[in-house]
Formats: sequence, C-alpha cells, structure tokens
Amino acid sequence: MLKVCKFGGSSLSDAKHFKQVKAIIEADKDRKCVIVSAPGKGEGERDKITDLLYLCFQHNKYHVEFDSLFERVEQRYLTIKKELNIDYPIENDIKDIKDALKAGEMTEAKLVSRGEYLCAKLLSAYLGYSFLDAKDLIHFKFDGKVDEKKTNEDITKAFSKVEKAVIPGFYGSYPNGDICLFSRGGSDVSASYFAEALDAYLYENFTDVSGFYMADPRIIENPLKINEISYDELRELSYAGAQVLHAETIIPLMEKRIPLEVLNSNHPEEGGT
Ligand code: ADP
Ligand code: ASP
Ligand code: MG
Repeated sequence: MLKVCKFGGSSLSDAKHFKQVKAIIEADKDRKCVIVSAPGKGEGERDKITDLLYLCFQHNKYHVEFDSLFERVEQRYLTIKKELNIDYPIENDIKDIKDALKAGEMTEAKLVSRGEYLCAKLLSAYLGYSFLDAKDLIHFKFDGKVDEKKTNEDITKAFSKVEKAVIPGFYGSYPNGDICLFSRGGSDVSASYFAEALDAYLYENFTDVSGFYMADPRIIENPLKINEISYDELRELSYAGAQVLHAETIIPLMEKRIPLEVLNSNHPEEGGT
C-alpha cells in the first residue's frame, strides 16, 4: 500500500521548503515513492534551475562564458546542503557535470535533466530514502513515446528491492541510454507512471496552490476552488492551459482509475482538489 508523491519546483526552492517536504513525507508512512522536480522560484530565489541549465547549454554551445550562470545553479544546491547539514557530497556531482559540459560530453537533455537528478540526490540523503535514477526506469522509444511495458516492468522490479525511494522527474532514457526529457512541467507525468506501475492508491501532487481553481490565481483574484473534477474535465482544463498540471498527467492514471490529489506543500492542511 503506497502513495506516490510529487513535489514541484516551487515546493523545493530552498532549505525551508526541503524541511516542509520532509515533514509532509514523514507525516504519512505510505508516502514511499517520491518524485521531484528541480528547484524552482521561491521567496528569495528568482531562477528556475531548469531555465538556468538551458541557458548554460546555449552559452557553451556558442562559446560564451557561462561560469557565473553555472555558479548560480551550484550555489542553490550547496546552500540547501549546508543549511540542512546534508551528508552527501553533491559538490562532486556538480563538478562532474560542469567538466562534462566543458568537454562537450553533455547533450542538452542530459544537462537539463541534472536539475532533477541533483535535487533527488539531496532529498534522498536528507530523508534517508534510496535514490533511484529515472534513466533506468522511464523508457522512451525512439519516437519519443514512453515504452509503457518496459517502464512498468522496471519500476516494479526496482521497488521490489527498496522500500522507500526518491526519483528525479522529467526525464528517462532512449534504448541507447541517451537521456530524453518530457516537455516542460513533465515531472507530473513521470509520477503518473510510477503511480500506475506500483498500483498506488493515491497520487499526491504537491505544488504551491491548494488545488485546482476556476482560473489561475496569479491572474484572477480569489477564484473559486474546484473540490472534485473528473479525468476528462481535468484534461480539458490542462490542454486549455491551466498550468498547474501537465496535460498528459492523467493518461497513465485513467485505466486503473488511480485518484490524483493536488495539494499545497505550504498548506497541506487546507486540502486540495
Ligand atoms: P510546480 O512547481 O509545483 O510544478 P507549477 O508552477 O507548474 O507548479 O503549477 C502551479 C501554478 O499553476 C500555480 O502557482 C498557479 O499560478 C498556476 N495555475 C494555472 N492555472 C491554475 C488553476 N486553474 N488552478 C490553480 N493553479 C493554476
Ligand atoms: N523542471 C522541469 C521544468 O521546469 C520539469 C518540471 O518542473 O516538472 O519544466
Ligand atoms: Mg509544474
């Protein structure tokens, strides 16, 4: 019996948010499968790590110096590690990434995926959970579609060997091992594949709003909250641009009718949709 929990970038933007996430996970023993995005914007943080990594790649491609950009990425992880006293040598991983980029050994997808990878490494060490790499679990075919059978099998196999794990969202790999990304916001979709493979009784999607509203609360003041919504209505809203969930999130959930709850990591007590 487990729940799949996904935490978006806004829920992991800094050490304070990492602490909140830990408290949420530890409040329920069923929260055994945790999918994370890369740290996003927050109170004192103006950058999304994913955006910075795309920028680093482009700078390097055109031989423009990117050290100061990369340092902004590095500092985010080092600060979280330091403030929470996390006993994991994340600086070694970061150095390897930078060296590989400079040596021309990184595809854009691989570099960008490191945002989620590093975040999952830190969070797994902080929680005392296992780390599982999405490249070994989420399999894409060369046409860019997910190989559902292989993905299902490998997720099930991996979870027969670990009890609790943190997994980076947003990416998987092609049959030749190269990293492949979902489209932006795709960690929502990664988590759905885990929910399906593991027969989760609930997929909790933690973000920075207390559920789905009639309109984007960043644009419309005090929109009404939707307490319950069907898969079809949700898909329509997502395709119409409601950013809170990636439009493909529900596809892996529908057949097994796995319920999805959108919750606020800053106010989980408020309930959601
Ligand atoms: P995460 O980092 O958790 O993946 P996102 O930024 O992708 O979060 O999605 C959450 C954001 O979606 C909210 O901050 C909100 O501004 C926006 N949003 C857009 N439409 C809606 C809606 N209908 N209901 C709630 N939030 C919405
Ligand atoms: N970090 C990725 C993005 O910014 C994926 C995600 O957040 O789900 O799009
Ligand atoms: Mg999102």
